[in-house]
Amino acid sequence: MSETTQYRTAGAAGGDGRSTGDRSILQSLLRGAHLTCPACGTGAMFKSYLKVSDHCPACAEALHHHRADDAPPYFTIVIVGHIVVGLVLAVEMAYRPPLWLHAALWLPLTVLLALAILPPIKGALVGLQWALLMHGFDPEGEDETVPRFEEFAGGDRVN
Ligand SMILES: [Zn+2]
Repeated sequence: MSETTQYRTAGAAGGDGRSTGDRSILQSLLRGAHLTCPACGTGAMFKSYLKVSDHCPACAEALHHHRADDAPPYFTIVIVGHIVVGLVLAVEMAYRPPLWLHAALWLPLTVLLALAILPPIKGALVGLQWALLMHGFDPEGEDETVPRFEEFAGGDRVN
């Protein structure tokens, strides 16, 4: 698989905030993991702890198209679980500490580790979606919108 998604034209962000040009998957992943915009690498991706900015404050790239959903917590659980379970087993085998010490060590570590790596993982996933032109990130595709209630219900909403 090619590391770069090719584009018909190269250039800057259009009026809808979707830039054209090559999108390196690795570079986008790393920029996202550093909590910066995948397009320019300088603007902040998040406006708060886990809230992705609608547009990059530096280059105006539209970032609201992401659909990270529950993938960031999924990968966070997998990574934190492997780290903490490995440490628990190693410490138990080496020192056999009492259970209260296990609880005092691993519960805070699990919470802090999860909170620490959740934003970089979400950033990397948003960067990946941007590089792969997923959802509404494709400048040649439709602007993906969430269907309104009426479209689900198949008619007018009854109040
Ligand atoms: Zn940017």
